[in-house]
Amino acid sequence: MCGIIGYIGSKRPEKILIEGLKKLEYRGYDSAGIALYNKEVQIIKSIGKISNLEEKINNEKLIDSNIGIAHTRWATHGEPSEINAHPHRIGHITLVHNGIIENAKELKEKLQNKGVKFNTSTDTEVIAALINYYYKDNMEKAIEEAISELKGSYALAIINDQEDKLYAVRCESPLILGIGDNEYFITSDIGAILNYTNKYVLLGQNEIVTLTKDSYNIVKEDTKVFRKVEVSNLSLEDTTLNGYDHYMMKEINEEPVLVDNLIKKYINNLDSLPDLNKYKNIHIVGCGSAYYAGMIGKNLFEEDGIKIEIDVASEYRYRNIIYDKDTLVILISQSGETADTIAAMRKANDNNIDTLAIVNVQSSTIERECTYSILIEAGKEIAVATTKAFILQVLVLSLLSYKINPDNKYLEDIKKLPQQLKVLLDKTGYYKKLADSIYKHEDVFFIGRKVDYAISMEGSLKLKEVSYIHSDSYQAGELKHGTISLVKEGTIVFAIVTDDEIRDKTISNLEEVISRGAKPIYVGNADVDYENKIIIPKIHKKLQPLLAVPPLQMIAYYVALKRGCDIDKPKNLAKSVTVE
Ligand code: GLU
Repeated sequence: MCGIIGYIGSKRPEKILIEGLKKLEYRGYDSAGIALYNKEVQIIKSIGKISNLEEKINNEKLIDSNIGIAHTRWATHGEPSEINAHPHRIGHITLVHNGIIENAKELKEKLQNKGVKFNTSTDTEVIAALINYYYKDNMEKAIEEAISELKGSYALAIINDQEDKLYAVRCESPLILGIGDNEYFITSDIGAILNYTNKYVLLGQNEIVTLTKDSYNIVKEDTKVFRKVEVSNLSLEDTTLNGYDHYMMKEINEEPVLVDNLIKKYINNLDSLPDLNKYKNIHIVGCGSAYYAGMIGKNLFEEDGIKIEIDVASEYRYRNIIYDKDTLVILISQSGETADTIAAMRKANDNNIDTLAIVNVQSSTIERECTYSILIEAGKEIAVATTKAFILQVLVLSLLSYKINPDNKYLEDIKKLPQQLKVLLDKTGYYKKLADSIYKHEDVFFIGRKVDYAISMEGSLKLKEVSYIHSDSYQAGELKHGTISLVKEGTIVFAIVTDDEIRDKTISNLEEVISRGAKPIYVGNADVDYENKIIIPKIHKKLQPLLAVPPLQMIAYYVALKRGCDIDKPKNLAKSVTVE
């Protein structure tokens, strides 16, 4: 959510900054801006797309500088507007901020009483004012004093108009230091600087970084901090479209290969996965699609005889959870930086409960702080709506469940999975045809029971997030307890039917809505007489969701395409939700 990039070196920064912002676009934003520094500070901001900012920059005479900071904002305090866009400047201090300052109001009042004037309604401006207030001649001290008063989350890149330096500090929100050849970068995501370097340093909470053209120094509470230089395994390829029109489509099409890679890595090496048999209770926690992946996991582990609880992270973190011993908490997050999921993890850690991370991003907060972690190895996922990462999260859960309860049929079937996925994804003509019959509707329903309900939740979420069609998912038996009143002539109802044990029940529920005018779209592993149907191969029960979800992702994509939506960056959404 929101992105930061900062540069100091011997090049002019504007191109690097704009290029970097474009790589960070996937995180979601509503406005953007840059600041360049060479004895004076030049700030350029714009609402909407980076291309608007780029146009503005191209039309201005830029100062000749080697230091700059840039930002994409996802507004939390104050409307998305040019004035509220970052960078913000007060006195000597210009900065960009990702996160939320929870005590901004009190700090603002305090500073106003001391005569400070504010121009925006953001919480960010307060940080600039506070650092400026404490700055006498030592920036590190001023930053230290300022952050000691902040409550909340922040990643900051800071310029002081008295010094040829760049400063950075973070707490909760992600920020890394990129190490180039006589040049340094500050960014929320290594992907933004891969054109220049793949070397980076992870910054700990409240460690203050001071950068000059040819040196970096990290301190915390006056003590020098030494941190290892890491090398990212991400390739530039991961951050390009590779001929596709959208990242969402590119990423869906990566599923067969990525699934194959992960299967090969683990299937003969189950020992490298944690043993869940030793836990009597498992809690699964996530947000959005990660939560629905967890719902699929719940169905798998329950069949294995494990007591399962599942919740969304924003609820779990505030509940009064009574932990039994022998409990494992599984945290699922693509970015590994989801604020609510981090809080849920810390709650379990604080209670001395073992935690297992299922994440995509190596060295992310959740990966680092959990007892165990499994990387889903999806490569970079850029489309805001998750596709490949979801499938790989489900695959990991399925492998864990197999490890609890191995059987030969699974072993036989899992090998077929990548090929079956490939064949399913190739049926684009059919998905387009279905999309044609859906895109004009304003309400779509999904129904299913047990694991099919979890699948239908994800299908419904995918459709609404990218196409903006209102869509809801219900347990098939529940529809008639209220929502069936919304079914009218022509209402589209997807029925997910992969679980043999409850197949007839779900079909009966589907018939109930058909008799009230609904137009069914059946997604299942047995052929039926309905006109609109997606027949997926019948495969081991624990693997079946991996074949049922991708066609729903495809349909969501084509419906959004037909409706002319901004598929990779749906409005109001952010990729990595680093605020509560
Ligand atoms: N809270 C800040 C604002 O609303 C920063 C938001 C962000 O992370 O983009 O401006």
